Amino acid sequence: MSLATDFERVSLELENAFTIARGTQETVENVVVHVRDDDGTVGVGAAAPSAHYGETAATVEAVLPELLAVVEDVGDPHRLDRIERRMRETVERNPAARCAVSIALHDLVCKRLDVPLYRYWGLDPEAAVSTSYTIGIDTTERVAEKTETAVERGYSTLKVKVGTDRDEEIVSTVRERAPDATIRVDANEAWTPREAVRKIDALAAYDLEFVEQPVPAGDPDGLEFVRNRSALPIAADESCVTLEDVPQIAGRVDVANLKLMKCGGLREATRMIHAARAHGLEVMLGCMVETNVAIAAAAHLAPLLDYADLDGSLLVADDPYDGVPMPAGEIDLESLDRPGTGARHA
Ligand code: MG
Repeated sequence: MSLATDFERVSLELENAFTIARGTQETVENVVVHVRDDDGTVGVGAAAPSAHYGETAATVEAVLPELLAVVEDVGDPHRLDRIERRMRETVERNPAARCAVSIALHDLVCKRLDVPLYRYWGLDPEAAVSTSYTIGIDTTERVAEKTETAVERGYSTLKVKVGTDRDEEIVSTVRERAPDATIRVDANEAWTPREAVRKIDALAAYDLEFVEQPVPAGDPDGLEFVRNRSALPIAADESCVTLEDVPQIAGRVDVANLKLMKCGGLREATRMIHAARAHGLEVMLGCMVETNVAIAAAAHLAPLLDYADLDGSLLVADDPYDGVPMPAGEIDLESLDRPGTGARHA
């Protein structure tokens, strides 16, 4: 067997400019990877690089030739463990680039076997949790409008970005416009531990589910300080990047927020999910702003999760790809009528 590979950059325009505590994005660049077998079956994957973790579309494109040389050298897409191990040995950093290849290989393997990815893994589609829909930082008026749109579209769980000097106004606006929604907030490292305790105390009045990454990633003791003094559960995102981080956050937070683009692949994500559970953590799977080529793969892990935040493609105005159906945020794996991740040109 031999494998052929290629990749291309895809520009994604966001429906709304997306602002979090550390910056604003209007367009996002992903890199789509193809792996083709002798029969002409093509697996597709994507990298959604995050500058916060040192990656851009250009760094992904710079290392993909080395990673795809590993794929072509091994030559058998079913040797997923071997390929992922050798990719990690070849390019230790650049997890989004490795992840693109991991997704393309899983898609190819499942297409060769003619099963959707969740069935390949033996997961129960009925156990899939729904995804939240994210409301970025904006003027109070725009936050109100975005919340109304989200409610109209049927999203029952909203994730609200905070970390401003008017967080309470933002959260109260969302709660007023979405009285029945489950609301979680994400501070993206914006607060000091003492500030976080004060802020969370005030925000707890709006009936929130949990607070994500209140303090900087480099301060695990700060996370523990906040968790021990807060009325709301605490999730770690920027503090939970790779498998080795899981024991570091255990006992310091309640929820581990994993992302494919942080950990470097589907097999590593699965290991992190089980490690987090073994350490008594609840598990959330999040995303960057991502095309469905990447989101579709993450969606197949939904049966293993407590919380999903897989709205990356829902925030994109013109995603060229379809993926797993997510009507009103419900990750509907059972209705997927094609093998692999389900990603295909829209
Ligand atoms: Mg986050």
